[in-house]
Amino acid sequence: MKKHNFSAGPCVLPKSVMEQAAAAVLNFDDGLSLLEISHRSKPFVDVMENARSLALELLGLEGKGYKALFLQGGASTQFLMVALNLLEKRAGYLNTGTWADKAIKEAKIYDDIYEIGSSKSANYNYIPKGYDIPEDYDYFHCTSNNTIFGTQMKSFPNSPIPMVCDMSSDIFSRQLDFSKFDLIYAGAQKNMGPAGTTLVVIKEDILGKVSRKIPSMMNYKEHISKGSMFNTPPVFAVYVSMLTLEWLKNLGGIKAIEKENEKKARLIYSEIDLNPLFKGYSVKEDRSIMNATFTLENENLKETFESMVKEAGINGINGHRSVGGYRASMYNALSLDSVKALVEVMSELESKA
Ligand SMILES: *Cc1c(COP(=O)(O)O)cnc(C)c1O
Repeated sequence: MKKHNFSAGPCVLPKSVMEQAAAAVLNFDDGLSLLEISHRSKPFVDVMENARSLALELLGLEGKGYKALFLQGGASTQFLMVALNLLEKRAGYLNTGTWADKAIKEAKIYDDIYEIGSSKSANYNYIPKGYDIPEDYDYFHCTSNNTIFGTQMKSFPNSPIPMVCDMSSDIFSRQLDFSKFDLIYAGAQKNMGPAGTTLVVIKEDILGKVSRKIPSMMNYKEHISKGSMFNTPPVFAVYVSMLTLEWLKNLGGIKAIEKENEKKARLIYSEIDLNPLFKGYSVKEDRSIMNATFTLENENLKETFESMVKEAGINGINGHRSVGGYRASMYNALSLDSVKALVEVMSELESKA
């Protein structure tokens, strides 16, 4: 039976990418596996260079002073790397979810952090708006999509200071003016590839302004000067990310996938709104097109619903423990048919109840 994978991360990847990745594990170059050749060999250096330039190309950032890096340690390591490289006196953070809160906690180790806005007291069911970004801060940090709560920033401020954004769960999913951002980071496993690498896109001229000494592995400049090969990169994760970026480019890039993502989101949210058995978690205007969070109005239907879900081959829709209910993660590689399958189960539940 066809599986419908709504996993929040690691998540669904395109089947063609899986097939190419599997083949490369067996034979990538002249009978050797991708996993057993030198990362300094020409075939792998080409992979890294291709992945880096595809990332910039898809974001429309080529020739604009940006560099792309594929690092390790997940987005969680970026929480502290951002602070180490950019924080001199004070930075402003928008606290829109668990991940933003963790980013704040790590940055606080180094210096003063000010929460410019927060929706923590409402358990993050909306995005704060109407905040001011002080001009004398070092940078402003925000999270474009709140994976756990299903909220998404629909617009971004014109920041007078460098703007840093954790785009782990919606990078390459919608068109934005990416040149508004000075540093973008994203763990690969949500919308780009397997776990093990993190894409960091940096405007080079924001670096080199802090007085502290930065350990080499934590230093963006070091990674840039070594072409994202300061040490052995996660070869498999970078390769699969490259394949996914190629897949996206062949589909027509972000513009094309955004249309699909909007169709998927419209379908699920209209079911959530029209079906009296369900209610959405986040406020309507801030709803994420990547992660739709919802609950059952009547908990007595839980068992029936979940067994129907299972029967339909639907996987990974349990909500995060801090929200409860359900979360349908609809990343780029999830097909509209999978969302249709879920919506059918939801309406079938209604006709049964
Ligand atoms: C998953 C996630 C993270 C954490 O990513 P890791 O790669 O596991 O460290 C950070 N931010 C957001 C928005 C996420 O969705």
